[in-house]
Amino acid sequence: MAYNLNRPLHPARMSLADLETLWQSGDETPLPECTYDPELHTGPRLTIESAEERAAREAVARDVCLTCPALRLCELYAQRVRPTSGIWAGRTPAELTIHSTASEELEVA
Ligand code: SF4
Repeated sequence: MAYNLNRPLHPARMSLADLETLWQSGDETPLPECTYDPELHTGPRLTIESAEERAAREAVARDVCLTCPALRLCELYAQRVRPTSGIWAGRTPAELTIHSTASEELEVA
């Protein structure tokens, strides 16, 4: 699989084989919780959701991330590829950017 880091693929849309290749976790690659219902994390493909529907969906997606065995791997991946949509490791792309910046500032301090 060829990865386009300008348009990163969400873990929910990847096969386990692709995740093993991409994350190279060393141990057995954990199966992301989002693979069971990808649209929960990426949004609906065929319909347009209201702001309220989106907020509700994202709240559930965040809860699912908290139980995901791949959370840390996903977070590291998301920080690298800088997604522009979806919920990744319990965060929106904007929240990932803020979290990354805060982490980098802590490392420098
Ligand atoms: S942390 Fe969330 S977005 Fe990341 S792989 Fe797990 S369920 Fe999917």
